[in-house]
Amino acid sequence: MRVTYIRWSMCLIEMNDLHILTDPVFRLLGWRLPPAEYTIDRLPPLDLILVSHRHLDHWDRWAMSRLKRDIPLLVRPRRIADDARRLGFTHVRELAPWEQAEVRGLRVTATPAVHMGGEIGFVLQGERTVYFAGDTSFDAGIFTAIAEQFAPDVVILPIGGLAFFGRTQHIDPLQAVEALHLLRPQVVIGTHWGSAPNWPPLLAMPGTPQALAELLAQAGLSTQVQCMRPLESAELNGFRHKT
Ligand SMILES: [Zn+2]
Repeated sequence: MRVTYIRWSMCLIEMNDLHILTDPVFRLLGWRLPPAEYTIDRLPPLDLILVSHRHLDHWDRWAMSRLKRDIPLLVRPRRIADDARRLGFTHVRELAPWEQAEVRGLRVTATPAVHMGGEIGFVLQGERTVYFAGDTSFDAGIFTAIAEQFAPDVVILPIGGLAFFGRTQHIDPLQAVEALHLLRPQVVIGTHWGSAPNWPPLLAMPGTPQALAELLAQAGLSTQVQCMRPLESAELNGFRHKT
């Protein structure tokens, strides 16, 4: 299996011969999120799209209106489901935390997240188990429950550590290490970090994958940090090719 970190929360997960895209965002209030060379027509044919919540850095109507309308969507909250149906998507399902769906042989479970309300993460169970956390702050109860129930091989965590009105809205690298003590995956991919010269200060996030790698090494955890830059991929053994 392979996970490509495109940018921000957008990751392309390839497993069970499926292409799954998380939080597809190409434009945010006029700023490009992925590197310039990664245009929307570079996406492979998609089998499933996951949308974690309704913020503009996770739900991009411009991008969605350029994708095929028969791609299954699993989303939260209801307003995204309604909006997706208005755009013409025909297979849209809203999931509450711990609700499950089966898509083309892949089991998807929505997980709780702690952000600003109305968000979820996702656990995908196929040839490997992947936990995509969406936007969340640190919550030991949630991470312990996910570890016990799913024992994920790959964890995709926000690490930018954005604080908003004095409250942390996303995990930072230090909290990510605490989360990884509980989750114990083989590989972690840090998302939702960085900034660009023309972006507003609100979108500047202090946490970096480099900081996470250093802290993990100090903590002596065997989890590997992969995809340190946009468009890098993490590969795990056991990828089954089409026969
Ligand atoms: Zn976000």
